[in-house]
Amino acid sequence: MSFLIKNADVGNLDDLSTSGKDILIEGGRFKKIADHIDPKECPEATVIEANHMLALPGFTDCHSHVYQTFIKGPLDDLVITDWLVRLFTFEDYMTDEDYYYATLLSCLSAMRFGTTTINEMGGYEHLDATLQAFEDAGIRVTFGISTTDIAENEVTPIISVQEALRRSEEVYDKVHGRNHGLMRASVAPAGLPAVSAEMAKTLKAWANERGLIYHTHLGEGKMETERVAKEYGLGGEGEALEYLGILDEKTLLAHSIWLSDHELDIIARTGAIPVHCPNTNMKISDGIPKIAQMLERGIPVAMGCDGEASSGTKDMVREGKAGSYLQKAVTLDPTVMDAGTTFKMMTINGAKALGYDDLGEIKEGYQADMILVNMEDDLSLTDRDHRIGNLLYAGTGHAVDTVFVAGQPKVRNKKIQHFDEQFILNKCNELIHKLNVRTGYVKED
Ligand SMILES: [Zn+2]
Repeated sequence: MSFLIKNADVGNLDDLSTSGKDILIEGGRFKKIADHIDPKECPEATVIEANHMLALPGFTDCHSHVYQTFIKGPLDDLVITDWLVRLFTFEDYMTDEDYYYATLLSCLSAMRFGTTTINEMGGYEHLDATLQAFEDAGIRVTFGISTTDIAENEVTPIISVQEALRRSEEVYDKVHGRNHGLMRASVAPAGLPAVSAEMAKTLKAWANERGLIYHTHLGEGKMETERVAKEYGLGGEGEALEYLGILDEKTLLAHSIWLSDHELDIIARTGAIPVHCPNTNMKISDGIPKIAQMLERGIPVAMGCDGEASSGTKDMVREGKAGSYLQKAVTLDPTVMDAGTTFKMMTINGAKALGYDDLGEIKEGYQADMILVNMEDDLSLTDRDHRIGNLLYAGTGHAVDTVFVAGQPKVRNKKIQHFDEQFILNKCNELIHKLNVRTGYVKED
């Protein structure tokens, strides 16, 4: 299906200007972008009147655990050790149906708020249900399973290196290239506090053979980071990853908080990409990463909403705003993480981090992942001359009106197009309540 978008105002993230354009989408890509495209040029195309809505590339959420959308509430306001125990307890009680609907709900909610790509660190249990939900949601996803072989507490699920490899092969076979290429595989060992040197090195070598992303946590907890540094006899967890040969441009490092300036230099030199997840960092009290210093070094930092049990949201606009405000506050510098930089972190940086060279910009020939933002129906979003900054600082993802993934409109007029939203809401509310009762955290009605 092809679409002709008339009168979109395409945002320029360098100077925050917009320019009125018609956009022809064919075969899932931006075929032509021009001041005016006559519908007679493309009689097959469905015409969509954008009414001068702001057009931006779709957002890339580069660190995610989607199933956590079902267990947001029970994990509120806990210290990390209790948080982890309760997380794994709830995971044990979740069924295939829970995983399917949790994944679907999280993807649809992310999409509704403008996210077109998710980099998922998922679970192996209920794998088929999870993958089916990603496929049905129709979102672009890079998917790897979280693996650990060092128990951080009595409920950490640990497996052998061989089993991690076997599972990674299974995921690769089931995921890579699925859903017309929208789904890709990765490896996703959890992070060195819970991953042995052997597991890290084995999975990195295996991923390199296939050109896959290595997605991991780095320097999230202060105590855990110090323990890893001590065990390796090095200055920090980042130095340990470098020592193991993990750091390169195909490695994504969620959080990257507890790093020395020397480790920031290492990351800049190796090309590895930190993923900033500020809502999680604040809500579960991880700390504040040195994003401003990373950007100063030219590191193309990406952004992620992480799991909703730690961040509370799949809204990338809220994530970007939180990150920008946090960096301005800690550096005492309001120019840090300006609106253009922040939106680049949420779009092109994420797309490149995931290995795409034709995604993350509204550009002829690129894959047509795009959002249209309606800033004319929201009392807090007035001022047509400063829409990009206003969206970040005064808005939320609720302002997103239309979302294209690979050239297909998945959201129109702020409504998911391919599912009955009310059915999904009712079904998920019912399943979440049953899960809360099964685990004993909520009394039966
Ligand atoms: Zn995470």
